[in-house]
Amino acid sequence: MKKKVLIIYTGGTIGMVRDHKTRTLVPFNFKAITDQIPELRHLNCNISFHSSHRPMDSSNVQPSFWEELATIVEKKYKTYDGFVILHGTDTMAYTASALSYMLENLGKPVILTGSQLPLGVIRTDAKRNLITAIEIAASTTIVPEVCVYFNSQLFRGNRVEKFTSSKFDAFHSLNYPVLAEAGVEMVFDHRAIALKPRKKLVVHRGFSKDVAILKIFPGLTAEVIEAIGSTKGLRGLIIETFGSGNAPTTHKFWER
Ligand code: ASP
Repeated sequence: MKKKVLIIYTGGTIGMVRDHKTRTLVPFNFKAITDQIPELRHLNCNISFHSSHRPMDSSNVQPSFWEELATIVEKKYKTYDGFVILHGTDTMAYTASALSYMLENLGKPVILTGSQLPLGVIRTDAKRNLITAIEIAASTTIVPEVCVYFNSQLFRGNRVEKFTSSKFDAFHSLNYPVLAEAGVEMVFDHRAIALKPRKKLVVHRGFSKDVAILKIFPGLTAEVIEAIGSTKGLRGLIIETFGSGNAPTTHKFWER
């Protein structure tokens, strides 16, 4: 039996092609993706597509969008063996991380990928990112995790960070090994990959937006700290400190 993979298209650079008349990049009709990537016809799996709304730049991602994605995975969970989410790179790490906490007891691969160059550009990385992401989603080595696949590496979704906009290796994994490397062969690091859970998938929803991040830097004024700290309804403040948790001791704010 061929494996079934659902591709969920959300937007980002990967879905853009050059409009030769206007000489601008425009989102292309994803239903015609096999015209852009004929290789997809030769993959040893059945591929279906889902694109719910207008393709968006991932800077517009909101928690409600993560809930939409989790709902699609939940509804189609029984029908498909794996999922590939095509997403802009700018907030891909946030979406991957959020989904990894929303999809408890995930037993199937959910692979996010995108590209640095649009699909319609000759040197694009979109094709190889997409093709290998589909191969991982349909692989017999099941990676029951939310992952990011980019430039030959498979990362755990909640450990990844985008660190460059100009090179093809846009992501790296913080404090956790790479789950797989796609060279001539696909090499999985089985010790790093989560075990398949025996329990049923549980989807968590209900994000709070009453959270802020405060980055400490030399020159940060008491007014800025005060303004963020006294935001109405704020329930959580993540403070990005120096080194192992140091912050200036001079601000009165900390004394409160
Ligand atoms: N601005 C784009 C996005 O995140 C960049 C990309 O896809 O690489 O949607």
